[in-house]
Amino acid sequence: MNSNWEIVIGLEIHAQLATSSKIFSGASTAFGEEPNTQACLVDLGYPGTLPVLNQQAIEMAIRFGLAIDAEISPRSVFARKNYFYPDLPKGYQISQLDLPIVVGGNMNILDGNGNEKIIGITRAHLEEDAGKSVHEGLDGLSGIDLNRAGTPLLEIVSEPEMSSAKEAVAYMRKIHSIVRYLEISDGNMQEGSFRCDANVSIKRFDQKELGIRTELKNLNSFKFIEKAINHEVMRQIEIIEDGGTVTQETRLYDADLDETRPMRSKEEANDYRYFPDPDLLPVIIEEDYINEIKASLPELPSVKKERFIDSYNLKSTDAEVLTASKQLADFYEAVEKIANTESQITANWVIGDYTAALNRDDLEIKDAKLSADDLAGLLNKIADQTISGKIAKEVFESMWRGDGSAEEIIEKKGLVQITDDNEIENIVNQVMEKNPSQVKDYLGGKGQLLGYFVGQVMKETKGKANPKKVNDILKKKLK
Ligand code: ADP
Ligand code: MG
Repeated sequence: MNSNWEIVIGLEIHAQLATSSKIFSGASTAFGEEPNTQACLVDLGYPGTLPVLNQQAIEMAIRFGLAIDAEISPRSVFARKNYFYPDLPKGYQISQLDLPIVVGGNMNILDGNGNEKIIGITRAHLEEDAGKSVHEGLDGLSGIDLNRAGTPLLEIVSEPEMSSAKEAVAYMRKIHSIVRYLEISDGNMQEGSFRCDANVSIKRFDQKELGIRTELKNLNSFKFIEKAINHEVMRQIEIIEDGGTVTQETRLYDADLDETRPMRSKEEANDYRYFPDPDLLPVIIEEDYINEIKASLPELPSVKKERFIDSYNLKSTDAEVLTASKQLADFYEAVEKIANTESQITANWVIGDYTAALNRDDLEIKDAKLSADDLAGLLNKIADQTISGKIAKEVFESMWRGDGSAEEIIEKKGLVQITDDNEIENIVNQVMEKNPSQVKDYLGGKGQLLGYFVGQVMKETKGKANPKKVNDILKKKLK
């Protein structure tokens, strides 16, 4: 990226809250149902109906606020944001403007150089989602599905403090991880339960005030966020370097074409005529209630990460990976408890082979055949020297496919490690006899040939010889 320009990014993240019913009605929030079967009269905006606030949504917003060290407003107010759109039958969206429920807060991320950076969070407010326009399969017509109307959203607004697309993604991932730890959102990005708008501007490094920003709408994958921002930054640099000015506007990212295009500019921007919703009372939150929720918070990723570093002596980057998801952290601890391998070796297996296999087969931890007990069983076979780490990888693949326990597979395939000194010595002798010129070169000073001999012994034993013993015996013999 061009080094004359400082990039400035602020994100507005929408997290759909995992309540079972809607924020102002009793209709279900279930995803993927037949159109318009999950919308009641309140969601349909029938005259004479009244919203009733769902307390679960309030509790979830407070959980989030506490997790990011924010202020929980003792009094917050719902406002009407007025605009016309077919998927918004009431003609207004209920949101919060001047008095949001969560104010201020911080999130730690790792910047591009792996250093800790704090991103400020301006606010988080509650609002209802709109319905959806449907065009597919309707041949020239548009349908309206109001199942999503009234689904609770927490909109999390950051300060403009991220300075690269990578940082924006790191921040988004961190928030994603937090909402899932807190169990306030399923974070499902394919279903749109977790999405963001990215505000992007650039400025010269010596320039004090921020540049003119554009807002990129509807980014619903980590990959797209990064691509869309990088793309937009290049576009802005080109405009300014050609002597032009960036227009403040909303742009839509097209993932297929990898480009952004204008949606609406500031001149066309709506005046939403916000005003407090007269149908809803201000939300008063008492200290006792906040304390009660505080007591129920789980251990959060940053605290867990420090604990993993302290108690298991893990590398900081590995602790970060393991604690990014609660499921993975729990899995690691379950393996670690039973496995006799060093904690770091156990971590390498969980982050390496195990996670790779999950990704390859697109599986969640709960759906994999290989349990924490199974993996620990395998690691214990390395720890007691029954098999080498290398053979263990083969056994792992077999276990992953469901062929049996480590013990069974090692037995069935005859993979038990050769640790007998005499047996290894015999094979070393054979290898030396077969390679007289290499032996001569080695003795003449080509020490790097040791690796070659190790390789030959491993080949002879199909990888089953204990690597340390092979090394020791070779060194002894080749004196
Ligand atoms: P709006 O109400 O128009 O969406 P806000 O002032 O609430 O505007 O800001 C929305 C988001 O835009 C915030 O995340 C903020 O950090 C970000 N933002 C504001 N100004 C800039 C800028 N010049 N460059 C990049 N991001 C910005
Ligand atoms: Mg905005």
